Amino acid sequence: MRTIVIGAGAIGLSAAYYLRKNGVEVTVVDPAPPGSKASSHNAGWIVPSMSAPVPAPGMMLQALRWMLRRDSPLYVTPTFSPQFVRFMALMLRNCTTARFEAGLHVLSDLSAETLQLFDDLAADGIRFETHADPLTMLFQEPQKLEAHAVELETVAERIPGFSWRALDRQDLAREMPLVSGGVAGGLQSFGDRSLDPASFTAGLAAACTRDGVEFRLGRPAALQQEPDSSVSVVVDGEVLHADRIVVAAGVWTNRVLAGIHEKVAVQAGKGYGYDLPLQPDGPTHPLYLAEAKVAITPLDTKVRISGTMGFGGIDERINSVRAGGILTSLPSYFTAWPDLSEKPQPWTGLRPMTPDGLPIIGPLRRRPHVLVATGHAMLGISLAPPTGRLIAEMATGHAPGRHRASLAADRF
Ligand SMILES: Cc1cc2nc3c(=O)[nH]c(=O)nc-3n(C[C@H](O)[C@H](O)[C@H](O)COP(=O)(O)OP(=O)(O)OC[C@H]3O[C@@H](n4cnc5c(N)ncnc54)[C@H](O)[C@@H]3O)c2cc1C
Repeated sequence: MRTIVIGAGAIGLSAAYYLRKNGVEVTVVDPAPPGSKASSHNAGWIVPSMSAPVPAPGMMLQALRWMLRRDSPLYVTPTFSPQFVRFMALMLRNCTTARFEAGLHVLSDLSAETLQLFDDLAADGIRFETHADPLTMLFQEPQKLEAHAVELETVAERIPGFSWRALDRQDLAREMPLVSGGVAGGLQSFGDRSLDPASFTAGLAAACTRDGVEFRLGRPAALQQEPDSSVSVVVDGEVLHADRIVVAAGVWTNRVLAGIHEKVAVQAGKGYGYDLPLQPDGPTHPLYLAEAKVAITPLDTKVRISGTMGFGGIDERINSVRAGGILTSLPSYFTAWPDLSEKPQPWTGLRPMTPDGLPIIGPLRRRPHVLVATGHAMLGISLAPPTGRLIAEMATGHAPGRHRASLAADRF
């Protein structure tokens, strides 16, 4: 059996890896180097503890309130394409408590095995920088802390080995002197991990090559309908045929599907980040600044700071005011760190978002041999291994994929 995977981000690479392990002949196509888009521009957290879908009660109201602030962590740039308007309306419908809780259950279930799968990848010789320090969320608003503690409890019930504890002001003063007095408290979770995402995608790509996956890089893939209604892949004028096609092109997925007049409900959620040099008094384990929505990831050679969520189409340009909002949020959480006397350069990444906050993993209804794997929002690294395995199960028919209906491409 031959499968073509379109997109070599964390999701496409993971699909290719597990398909190959199932004996499938795999070709991966990408115009860019593997892992060079959102999959290396992210916080690198493997976080079963953050299995909450993005659409949450109050989320859209918050976005509207923040619309006038040019450096807010969440913003919507209104565009009047019918697809965008429909997406936002669908997202609004998913901001209810019932849908949020249903989404949380699906995402925590998908996350439940991910740490084991990352361990399996390492045992298979895939090398990447990873850390298992506890993650601490810092809250300035006590009511936000209490709401999040409820989410952590739900996750703890579903994920074996996962636990958490609350930190009050005294705990913070004792254990984290770099945290400022404006922080009311923290929640610390045990059982999450972090990694250097570029090392992870490089490791996956190397393992795929080692196992015999073919890469066609430097040219985009397009889908084409053949006269007999089958679908082929066109790369640089060459027509490639396959038994299965997996479209894992992140925010570009609809551009690929346009060739066969299909589309899925995916929009770009833009994020920014900075890589700072290590500093003596800097954080030593991952921190999340809850109100500012900023993730801090200490790595071997740098500290990565990232955040913001901007809806406004596929746009990879850097808006330095938006990106700078991440840096200006830091002084209200920390006493002295970081030293920004040397101005760091921002980077950007486009998260593939769906209206209900769940990924799309499954076949197109009218073309069951074309599978889609995208829409992982803030969890594309966390969920890359379970997604790859699910795609391999679906493509080879070895086992029925879990949560088929919740993850179906045509559910909107
Ligand atoms: C600031 C930020 C922080 C984040 N933090 C985390 C985190 O801590 N943990 C976590 O789990 N997730 C995090 N994420 C989300 C995560 O980065 C994404 O969900 C994930 O990278 C999506 O992977 P992907 O493979 O779907 O997309 P991408 O990495 O975008 O890959 C898509 C690929 O498709 C290719 N492509 C495009 N068009 C074509 C074409 N025509 N033919 C072939 N290929 C094509 C692109 O070149 C690209 O390589 C974060 C994201 C951001 C922006």
